[in-house]
Amino acid sequence: MSCFLCAYGRKRVPKTPDKPASMTPPPETLGTCRRCSAHACSRHGARVGQFICAICEGADVTQSTIAPGSIPVTAMSGGPIPKAKAAGEAAPADLRETVRQALTLIEEAGSQRPGRAERLDFALPGAGSPNLVFNLSESIRELAGEPRDFAARGDGPDNLEDGFFDAVGGVVRELFADQDIVVTEASVPVVTGALLIAVQVAHESDDPVAAALIPPWEMSDPLLLDPVMWMVSTAVRQVTMGTPVAA
Ligand SMILES: [Zn+2]
Ligand SMILES: [Zn+2]
Repeated sequence: MSCFLCAYGRKRVPKTPDKPASMTPPPETLGTCRRCSAHACSRHGARVGQFICAICEGADVTQSTIAPGSIPVTAMSGGPIPKAKAAGEAAPADLRETVRQALTLIEEAGSQRPGRAERLDFALPGAGSPNLVFNLSESIRELAGEPRDFAARGDGPDNLEDGFFDAVGGVVRELFADQDIVVTEASVPVVTGALLIAVQVAHESDDPVAAALIPPWEMSDPLLLDPVMWMVSTAVRQVTMGTPVAA
């Protein structure tokens, strides 16, 4: 059995080691992620209460922080939150400010809760208005612009197809469809740190702060970015482009 991240993620590891050295080297798995059920190795998984993989860590922190009701009580683990908070507090103030504005956009988008029928419409590619929470695929399409053939773009990964946006959007819509998204000042450093943790896995770079400002569709391994962090990262792009998408 091989680690999911080792299988796809080249050699990247989050640079926040909080695990003892292991005699079981990657890609041998140590456990199954409680959030996504992928297998992870000693380098790509951590256990604080429950085992979680490096892709899920930032997403779990973000979800626990802005919509705790979206995580079943049995799967709750606040373990990584202090680590993310410390990383966010150490980040440049302007990155935190960008994330604060991005979270405000997410909170606004989440307050426009669509009905059941509307949600089904949103599941169709190209349908409905862009919305970071309920119609993320269309927010991404609007911000990513043309052409969407990523293999032909100099700035994009060659393993990303347009249809993946709909899959990502669908996960986010289902996760938050019936949840209250609440953002406070205390959420800002935590989610900033969660983003920094997530981009270290999804983007090949020695500079996580710069990587945190790259939109997910331009990251080297966008498939290793959890849908929840696609939402955060897309909102960050909306802020840095200064062109708010109509919700
Ligand atoms: Zn691994
Ligand atoms: Zn996972």
